Amino acid sequence: MTKILSLLGSTGSIGRNVLEIVRQFPGHFKVAGLAAGTNIALLRDQIEAFNPSFVSVADDNLARELASSLGVRWNEKIFTGQEGNIRVATLKDADTVVSAIVGAAGLMPTLAAIQAGKNIALANKETLVMAGDLVMEAVQRHHVKLLPIDSEHNAIFQALGAGRKKDINKIILTASGGPFRDKDMTELWQVTPEQALNHPNWDMGKKISIDSATLMNKGLEVIEARWLFDIPVEDIEVLIHPQSIVHSLVEYRDGSVISQMGIPDMKIAIGYALSYPERLKIALPRLKLNSCPNLQFFAPDFERFPSLRLAYQVCRKGGTLPAVLNGANEVAVEAFLAKRIRFPEIGLVVAETVSRLPREEVKDVGTVLDADLAARLQAESVIEAFSMKATQ
Ligand code: MG
Repeated sequence: MTKILSLLGSTGSIGRNVLEIVRQFPGHFKVAGLAAGTNIALLRDQIEAFNPSFVSVADDNLARELASSLGVRWNEKIFTGQEGNIRVATLKDADTVVSAIVGAAGLMPTLAAIQAGKNIALANKETLVMAGDLVMEAVQRHHVKLLPIDSEHNAIFQALGAGRKKDINKIILTASGGPFRDKDMTELWQVTPEQALNHPNWDMGKKISIDSATLMNKGLEVIEARWLFDIPVEDIEVLIHPQSIVHSLVEYRDGSVISQMGIPDMKIAIGYALSYPERLKIALPRLKLNSCPNLQFFAPDFERFPSLRLAYQVCRKGGTLPAVLNGANEVAVEAFLAKRIRFPEIGLVVAETVSRLPREEVKDVGTVLDADLAARLQAESVIEAFSMKATQ
């Protein structure tokens, strides 16, 4: 059966990989809508190749520019901003929404898609980090499927097929450890955004590359896993695995450990999330275990990478704190990329912001958005204080 997709974040790293799969399997997928940000040159190519009915871009100027290059019939088919993302996420024709916008901006469109009865292929982990309880409740209420694209969660989802939930002992998320795995604290103060963006195994966007370098990405993934699989955070472990071949594992109570392995290419996880339970014969190099014999696993170093520990603490405390953690981290990562703060200060800004804001119960999505906004403002003032100190 052909699936009709709406793709949020079509010009990002995940979005481009999704469209590569659509291109390889034209009988399996059609594209109803594409939502992008500012890369309208690439969006234009995607529109010509995949013929969506509607698209969305960041703002009105970009919409006018795109419409004038596509022709007059597009005037009514280009939406803008968050409202535009939500319209693409809820298109009548689409049965599946791929949520691959970066950051907190993914929450509202994804929630709207669930409420409109769409199945979700989820790459935007912030949706679950910020509002996991609300989102999973909406998934149940609207009887939709939510399948993870995040490679670790996709691996766990696959490994969970080997046993019953009550027999799970723990789940183990693997982490590459990022480009600074072996750097000591003094060296970490010197690293540049360019070095941090240079991930050893995965080709990813800027935000997630920095998050991988601080291990905050893994912290966010712990919170994501807690909600997605309804597992207590105490039963979620993180292991550094520099080769990124074992994508994550589930340990059952009899001592059996089931993992999913593969080359580090997002198309495997994306293909599985899109076509489950069918498996697509994707054109990719095969994993050859005899050519990667030294698979290593280490415990993470919480001293050099304190963001991971903070994410665990925040996950345990719950309420609005995961949304605060996430909002503060987004602001801190931007500040690091703009060279306003140094690498270890990303984690310090997030920790300081979390300590300054109260934990509140999540009553509705409004509470979550308020916490996100408060975190951003607070993080900005922490960053200003840090940069004042640096120039003194
Ligand atoms: Mg991941």
